[in-house]
Amino acid sequence: MSEKTFLNYIGGEWKASASGEVVQSTNPANKNEIVGSVQKSTRDELDDAVAQAKGAQKAWRKLAGAERGNYLYQAAAIMEENLEEIATTMTKEMGKSLPEAKGETTRGIQILKYYAGEGMRSEGDVIPSTDASAFMFSKRVPVGVVGVITPWNFPVAIPIWKMAPALIYGNTVVLKPASEGSVTAAKVFECFDKAGFPAGVVNFVTGSGSVVGQGIAEHNDVNAVTFTGSNNVGRNIGNTVGARGGKYQLEMGGKNPIIIAEDCDIEAAVDATLSGGLKSTGQKCTCSSRVIVQSAIYDQFKERLLEKAKEITVGDGMDGSTWMGPCASEGQFNTVKHYIAKGKEEGATLALGGNVLTEGNLKEGYYIEPTIFDNVTTDMTIAQEEIFGPVLALMKVETIEDAIDLANDVDFGLSASIFTKNIDHILAFIDDIEAGLVRINSETAGVELQAPFGGMKASSSYSREQGQAAKEFFTTTKTVFIKG
Ligand code: NDP
Repeated sequence: MSEKTFLNYIGGEWKASASGEVVQSTNPANKNEIVGSVQKSTRDELDDAVAQAKGAQKAWRKLAGAERGNYLYQAAAIMEENLEEIATTMTKEMGKSLPEAKGETTRGIQILKYYAGEGMRSEGDVIPSTDASAFMFSKRVPVGVVGVITPWNFPVAIPIWKMAPALIYGNTVVLKPASEGSVTAAKVFECFDKAGFPAGVVNFVTGSGSVVGQGIAEHNDVNAVTFTGSNNVGRNIGNTVGARGGKYQLEMGGKNPIIIAEDCDIEAAVDATLSGGLKSTGQKCTCSSRVIVQSAIYDQFKERLLEKAKEITVGDGMDGSTWMGPCASEGQFNTVKHYIAKGKEEGATLALGGNVLTEGNLKEGYYIEPTIFDNVTTDMTIAQEEIFGPVLALMKVETIEDAIDLANDVDFGLSASIFTKNIDHILAFIDDIEAGLVRINSETAGVELQAPFGGMKASSSYSREQGQAAKEFFTTTKTVFIKG
């Protein structure tokens, strides 16, 4: 792949930033390889994009839903033709294995198709009026211009799961992708460009969070902001948008528990713990990081977990034999090392890994061994803070009631899972767990595009994305009363 500089996409045109500066994206599997560069945009360019989006919104909302849907179908078809290239760019830019990157790109295409169909669905209800001679109905209408701020860990799926519903319900969008996922996002925008959206309907502005992202949060012409990322940044965006009367939606971190009950299928639970905890190098907001095990099977479970974790192949995501790639960036690599040191310092027992990998070509990338801590207690930092890396914390409990209490003993509440065959435990878990995604005999990671997605507590602003839930955020309601 040749290194390329990508421009902003504003008002249907590719435009360079007046700053004259670019941000380079490097390959975390080989820090000497530059994957591409994007514009380091100024506030003026953001303002331009918002003005274009505002200007295009009326004509876009006046199209029939089916017509808007056709643009989404077209974008999906073009992405399908470019799937291999988009996925390769993703693997090179943020390190996840190529099969995972292809899976994510395919997911993006499916989301576009799902929401394309939404253009043909009901947009309101007929409500009986107390006046027999009147006709009353509700009608969903777009909120206007939507600002989309996304993280680097799903550089295709997250921008699309926000933009596709925003567009189908008649909004226009300005996307500011994470700096470390911007080249991949630019590839998606190349597809959007070819899909021929009317000028100004979709806009793409890269650059720093504090300039472009903050600019979106502050801009009075951005009616709604949808954000996925870290808690600090998210809360700040929520405060800024809320203070000016805008609508916002925040999806943030997780500290997801997986409970292993003594009656479970241990083999299935081990596989789900490793897959849910370490796939994507632990960089999914839904990754399990706390493994809460009943004492009766603790040793047996741990032994099998360690055996299987030792088989994990770590390497460049482009290599077909790789199960787990590098950390996505130097910053992430340093964060994970910090938490491993913190775990040791606070008295957790390192049962596996914990080291940086430097053998052969691995020394050129940000590789950390799959790491498992034993004897972790809930007061430890590694049991409370999101690590976003390949680190699991094993915790021992006596009863399922204790397990659920421990699972809830964090600020976050995104996803949670239990492995058990006991229906009483399943029902108690569904009832008492504080999480937006509740999963039984399945890993914590895993999202279905047609179902509501989002967390509780510090993981979210209580709004939901995806499926039909997206309609709540991306539309507002008119109640119409007609009297003849
Ligand atoms: P950040 O919060 O650092 O960044 C997210 C986005 O916000 C980026 O586009 C970033 O831009 C931008 N940004 C940074 N500073 C500001 C600012 N002051 N004002 C406005 N925007 C700003 O998160 P990461 O990219 O590091 O993503 C990882 C986080 O995302 C994890 O905490 C993870 O849990 C969470 N996440 C949550 C999911 C969920 O659905 N709940 C799903 C996936 C991830 P720039 O890159 O230029 O700094």
